[in-house]
Amino acid sequence: MYDSLAGLVDFHCHLDLYPDHGAAVEEAEAAGVFTLAVTTTPKAWQRNNELAKKTKYVRAALGLHPQLVSQRASELDIWDLHFDETRYIGEVGLDAGPRFYKSLDLQKHVFKHVLQRSAKAGNKIISVHSVRSAKAVLDHIEAYLPVTQGKVVLHWFTGTLAEARRAVEMGCYFSVNATMFDGDKSQKLLSTLPLNCILTETDGPFTTINEQPAKPENVVVALNKLANLHGLQSIEMAAKIKTNLRNLLE
Ligand code: MN
Repeated sequence: MYDSLAGLVDFHCHLDLYPDHGAAVEEAEAAGVFTLAVTTTPKAWQRNNELAKKTKYVRAALGLHPQLVSQRASELDIWDLHFDETRYIGEVGLDAGPRFYKSLDLQKHVFKHVLQRSAKAGNKIISVHSVRSAKAVLDHIEAYLPVTQGKVVLHWFTGTLAEARRAVEMGCYFSVNATMFDGDKSQKLLSTLPLNCILTETDGPFTTINEQPAKPENVVVALNKLANLHGLQSIEMAAKIKTNLRNLLE
């Protein structure tokens, strides 16, 4: 087991979706877990940014979640308005699952805009959702975000082995949560990802640990599972993830 939480990385967590947003930020900060607080609507940006600005370890990301695009595409103007206030973008991407398939064209329009604007800025780090749409997501990144112009972290990636390989070749990172270790197919995929492109995440509160919504400090569970998968000590895995984060942020 790995005891010290300080220096762990939760690169995709929805701190504003817990019952007490402020307390969730404070807890992540007190634990010393580097936490990327992704947002789902541009209207949520300001409050997230205010809270994160006061911390050492929490960063807010400006997002427009693909599952909300059908109702919230008009908030793209607000997204634009805040674009220069942060280096971190997310949660953005595509979702071609049955509930969201109808808005896929609109999602693509929004995602293309996000990538093109980020490419122009040149240094953004983007947390990307790709449910049932790994190929389309990678096609968009390839077309609109040259590798020199920004970095992509694929969150909860569930594409095929070939798609994962393509993403690695494109320089993408992967943020991995504990739930992804359920099932042989996804474990196989995780075992093929090079160790230098792995980060950890909780996607809290959408995943649970001991039947409770996962918090940033629970990212230790994903860390231990990754270490186990690769036959490493958790402390070695933690060091690798720290290095990966440093490389990503440089
Ligand atoms: Mn999420």
